[in-house]
Amino acid sequence: MPICDVCFRHCKIEENSTGFCGARTCRNGKIVAANYGKITSIALDPIEKKPLKMFRPGSKVLSIGSYGCNLRCPFCQNSSISWSPKAFEYKDRAEYYSPEEIVKAATDLRTRGNIGLAFTYNEPLVGYEFVRDTAKLAKEAGLQNVLVTNGTATLKVLNEITPYIDAMNIDLKAFTSNFYKNFIDGDFQMVKAFIEGAVQSCHVELTTLIIPGENDSENEMRELSAWTVSLEKQHNKKIPLHITRFFPTFNLTDRAPTPISTIMKLVEIAKENLEYVFAGNV
Ligand code: SF4
Repeated sequence: MPICDVCFRHCKIEENSTGFCGARTCRNGKIVAANYGKITSIALDPIEKKPLKMFRPGSKVLSIGSYGCNLRCPFCQNSSISWSPKAFEYKDRAEYYSPEEIVKAATDLRTRGNIGLAFTYNEPLVGYEFVRDTAKLAKEAGLQNVLVTNGTATLKVLNEITPYIDAMNIDLKAFTSNFYKNFIDGDFQMVKAFIEGAVQSCHVELTTLIIPGENDSENEMRELSAWTVSLEKQHNKKIPLHITRFFPTFNLTDRAPTPISTIMKLVEIAKENLEYVFAGNV
């Protein structure tokens, strides 16, 4: 049975069934993206909303999403297209747009301040082929490409897309294996390797959503920011960090929003290591 090599799950996928992310399937013995070109969300967003603070500030970017995700964050802010039962219904009802159609739409929006495309909303890399093909065409049309990702994909996938991506915002959702493994069913080592690879190819900003009682300790932020500054030094690049506030949502409603004072304290701690740290959702 073919094995998917996109992420740490290495799903074995039978003919016509889907992998864990709900976005990849097996056709004629080959694993392909079933969500290729299946667009569930599209909006002309300010680039700061991705969030990207230090890449083309003040510009707008045509942001598109499909369906499916390889993580299981109980606090998902896009559950209707990522991994809820509703998200998987998009398999049959999302409309198909070709890379050419998407690039034409992005080009037409240049007059409204659009600089290019952002692949975002669900986890774009579970359908990396559409990201690669569309971003390549967009580059040829003189547009820029942004990727917003959870960073849990293999370096093989990263290498497929880096020739065409100008900037990424990557979630670094916590700085412990325990959080990744037990809270969101993810892979901490894969995220770190992905971030390190991405930093070498384009502008990278990181986002950490602070959840009370899970990843809000001062020590953890010290370790996270120390690791980030070590990457900065190694690759001679700045890596802005967004520290954002949690609000109860989806399957995580048993706790209060993150106190603003916690966010501000963690920003202060991160600034001991990093030059560019931004508080989000405050
Ligand atoms: S991308 Fe999807 S199908 Fe492939 S290994 Fe990850 S969860 Fe499984």
